[in-house]
Amino acid sequence: MKTVETTTGEMLRETKNRLGDDILIAAHYYAVPEVKRWADEIGDSLELAQLAAGAGNARALVFCGVSFMAETAAVLSGPERPVFLPRLEAGCPLADSATAEGAGRAWTMMGPVARDFVPVTYVNSSTELKAFCGARGGATCTSSSARDVFAAVEEAGRRVFFLPDINLGRNTARSLGIRDEEISVFDPDTGDFGGSGAPGEARMLVWKGSCPVHLEFHPHHVAEARKDPATRIAVHPECSPEVCRLADEVGSTSHMVRSVAESPRDVRWAIGTEINLIKHLRNLHPHRTIDSLGPARSCRDMHLTTETDLLETLAEFERGDESRRVSVSGILARDALDAIDRMLRVLRGEALKP
Ligand code: SF4
Repeated sequence: MKTVETTTGEMLRETKNRLGDDILIAAHYYAVPEVKRWADEIGDSLELAQLAAGAGNARALVFCGVSFMAETAAVLSGPERPVFLPRLEAGCPLADSATAEGAGRAWTMMGPVARDFVPVTYVNSSTELKAFCGARGGATCTSSSARDVFAAVEEAGRRVFFLPDINLGRNTARSLGIRDEEISVFDPDTGDFGGSGAPGEARMLVWKGSCPVHLEFHPHHVAEARKDPATRIAVHPECSPEVCRLADEVGSTSHMVRSVAESPRDVRWAIGTEINLIKHLRNLHPHRTIDSLGPARSCRDMHLTTETDLLETLAEFERGDESRRVSVSGILARDALDAIDRMLRVLRGEALKP
């Protein structure tokens, strides 16, 4: 008798073969391995956003990730190419920490000073927040593009108001020579500006949100990994500045994928990010030692999507059922697209025109 797992796998293979090029399955590195093995493309947020912008002949896109990723893909794909999210309830606590209304409150509190700032949101944010930024001449960024986007804002003679990840904001600021004392922090819970104080004199303003997964990496984990001199430590910039300062490398998931692939065989790795990226690296390099920095950390929302969810999504698409479709339309889509477009143009070497 066949196991349920085998049956699901077989049915997925058959369905995917039947659909052929009609459907493109994209998965974030943090998706579970059982789902990633069906993906046509695996990548980080930037790579998957670029993929959605030019998904070839595919009639539809299935996004194995969380809602902000599927929404970004829907904005980039436009209304003609539907985007499906196998688990519609898969969200992101970091994205949820900043609403467009909250950003609007901070903007209003800044008064005339707001004109000096350009709002920049991490792609790990709601479409409403991306649209808030887009409507004010702002942009999105990913962990791989944050430095370029921040630099472009400064080159345009303006200051960055970054949402929602305080750690990515501070770590990127440091890479550009912006000191902590020059950063004002907006706390959405208290409605106060902290850090260097009110944004008037600050060189940059950041929103006080964070990713609960990356907050779990601490300096003592780095100290523990350092006991082995052959271990190289790479962490994601959503980790705290205290951890990032101690690491050998700070970079996006795709940066880590490249670093491990290009490093000498005898280097052992301790990686500070979600466990499924580490599993992915182990699969790519089975003869290498690749560990989590400290205990393995997993993202609850990224773990929600299973093979069964993917199979059901494909089967529904075949039947013309769009109940798992993620749609973004109207002014919201237009303004969010403006923000994403500004990021993509900066990456092509163009100046930011807020
Ligand atoms: S790892 Fe963090 S930022 Fe990424 S989806 Fe999970 S909670 Fe959100």
